[in-house]
Amino acid sequence: MEIVAEFQKLTIAIDGPAGSGKSTAAKRVAELLGYDYIDTGAMYRTVGLAALSAGARLDDASRVEQIARQAQIELRWSDGRTRVWLDGREVSEEIRRAEAAQAASVVSTVPGVRTILVRRQKEFAARGGVVMEGRDIGTVVLPQADLKIFLTASPEVRARRRADEMAGRGEAVDYEQMKEEVVERDRRDTERAASPLAAAEHAVIVDSTAMDAEEVARLIVLLAREKERRIGKEKPTFSA
Ligand code: C5P
Repeated sequence: MEIVAEFQKLTIAIDGPAGSGKSTAAKRVAELLGYDYIDTGAMYRTVGLAALSAGARLDDASRVEQIARQAQIELRWSDGRTRVWLDGREVSEEIRRAEAAQAASVVSTVPGVRTILVRRQKEFAARGGVVMEGRDIGTVVLPQADLKIFLTASPEVRARRRADEMAGRGEAVDYEQMKEEVVERDRRDTERAASPLAAAEHAVIVDSTAMDAEEVARLIVLLAREKERRIGKEKPTFSA
């Protein structure tokens, strides 16, 4: 007889500010555990891009909400990258630009936009076996997540990571300006009334200032394995 310890799949929520390394870590965790990865920031970026393309004023909440409701956003995670389509047009590259990031941080303050995207995010996670990354995953989208991580790092290190990331894509970057943008986005994300960025109750707070992405990912995988054992998601199966 063979006894195999088979694990049911967890839902893992990873939140944190811009440049905390959560995307890189979350993707790696998904890869190591064989889970799906859901980048919720990509959804807000796509709504930001849709609003810019429509020439809407970003502070016009009802117009932006209407745009979010009508936008057909498709996310696909394959071969280690998230690809995104807006109304059938691929926008995977466009949403990574600085204008889309800034637009995302403005449109994400609109409660109606959040309601629309959160509903879709909950549907994505319903099957389990997902690593979902964002700002409000542990607090609002998946408060029942099996494991919640709040990843952070100093603003200097976060701005440096973002600058390196953009330089790697061949974009011109000014480190000082990047630092100002990171601080400005943090302020908007933490001070907004609708689902502000905050560590969820029972979240494990990981400061990645002195850690690289691989160390962060391995730590989260270790916590996930421990969680599987502790909450009894381990189901031995027997076969003759
Ligand atoms: O993570 P990323 O930098 O792609 O997110 C872009 C912006 O989208 C953030 O600055 C934040 O304003 C918003 N966002 C959010 N809630 C999420 C994910 C992202 O408000 N769950």
